[in-house]
Amino acid sequence: MSATTAAAGTGIVVQKYGGTSVATAERIGAIADRVSRCIEDEAADGLIVVLSAMGKSTDGLVALAHEVSRRPAGREMDLLLATGEQVSVSLLGLALQDRGMAAISLTAAQCGIRTDDAFNIARIQSIDTGRIQAEIAAGRVVIITGFQGINSKHEITTLGRGGSDITAAAVAVAVGAASCDICTDVDGVLSADPNVVPGARLWPEMSYEVAIEMASSGAKVLHPRAAEVCMAYDVPIHVRSSFHGREGTWIRGSEQMVMEQAEVVGVSSDRKIAKITLLDVPDEPGLAARVFQDLAAEEVNVRLIIQSASSESRGRITFVLDDEYVERAELLVEQWKAGGVASDASIDHDVAKISIVGSRLASTPGLAARMFAALGRERINIDCISSSEMKVACVIRGDQAQRAVRAVHDEFFPPDGDKSPSGGRERGQ
Ligand code: ADP
Ligand code: ASP
Ligand code: MG
Repeated sequence: MSATTAAAGTGIVVQKYGGTSVATAERIGAIADRVSRCIEDEAADGLIVVLSAMGKSTDGLVALAHEVSRRPAGREMDLLLATGEQVSVSLLGLALQDRGMAAISLTAAQCGIRTDDAFNIARIQSIDTGRIQAEIAAGRVVIITGFQGINSKHEITTLGRGGSDITAAAVAVAVGAASCDICTDVDGVLSADPNVVPGARLWPEMSYEVAIEMASSGAKVLHPRAAEVCMAYDVPIHVRSSFHGREGTWIRGSEQMVMEQAEVVGVSSDRKIAKITLLDVPDEPGLAARVFQDLAAEEVNVRLIIQSASSESRGRITFVLDDEYVERAELLVEQWKAGGVASDASIDHDVAKISIVGSRLASTPGLAARMFAALGRERINIDCISSSEMKVACVIRGDQAQRAVRAVHDEFFPPDGDKSPSGGRERGQ
């Protein structure tokens, strides 16, 4: 992303409010009161508010599309989904004006958010901040539709589910804001989803790298691409509650952090994945390359790969991918079967990925073993494992995800235990 018109000022505040925070007319009124207080306190030189669609209305639009089409996608789908945010921004505009505030709501197209052509998963390429700056200079609160943009052919695009966070990050970078507030329905980034683990711990700060790992392993409190955008331009993110004014989690460069980062920072799970296994794959050079080149050509993002031999001349290739890519992968599976790449394939939707995320995981002996032991004690079977310096992930049965998160969280953050990093327990390695 590049800002075509970067601003000089630093006093502009960007606040993003998620779907739950604007779910009803009453909540939109409460956000209008919060925004008014921010302006009255003169806490900002200018205020930009980015909104998601109300409550679960985007899910409602997706369901509606499925009623009229077997595979709703592409341009028409984006035109449809983008309407959700138009409703919320215009309502907040009306609510602010009703309180005597100068405010204007704008679609992403009206305020120059340019994306590439990838409908449903578009990437922001540039923001021409001229209109935004002019409205701020005129003393107005600028309210922008999250989650969407416009491509070079003036078609409306969307950024992928949860994409309002990306809009807020990109706008914050483009106007040179001091930070980007992500206001949501929890207190910040916690050691696990507090709706699954009520005793999860709130982190006052976290590095961009760990936040990206947490977000991409299923902690949907923040979109990983929002953290990537802010990291690239060193804009801190403040993930905080929409419902009170207490500090949440500051996400910034590790060199600016006050506390040393814990080894295990969080436990997350992701149920929006599927596992595909290609059976009887000939054991020949170049076949794995062909499979993953085909997937890449279809822009399918693969999260985990395992290749194993089933007999001397045949093998199997298993890979895990996000739900949104399954349909594209299924079409490829049919081509591979027809072309002799695999004799058969299984596609399992009822799987989940559970991850521990932190720093120095691979170089700290025993952390992975503690995770596996916690799952073993719960009699939860591990299907596939992958590990990196910042993450250990296991694929398990989908319906066991919540139990697995609680068990692994208790291991690293014992409910009544020591609050030092990684739960502070010395365990057998
Ligand atoms: P918004 O609509 O504000 O964008 P989301 O539903 O996208 O909100 O994200 C907030 C949700 O993220 C929380 O309600 C919580 O259930 C979930 N969540 C998952 N993992 C975490 C975590 N580690 N810390 C905080 N929240 C988490
Ligand atoms: N409304 C969109 C969604 O539900 C974008 C967002 O909420 O961030 O995915
Ligand atoms: Mg979200």
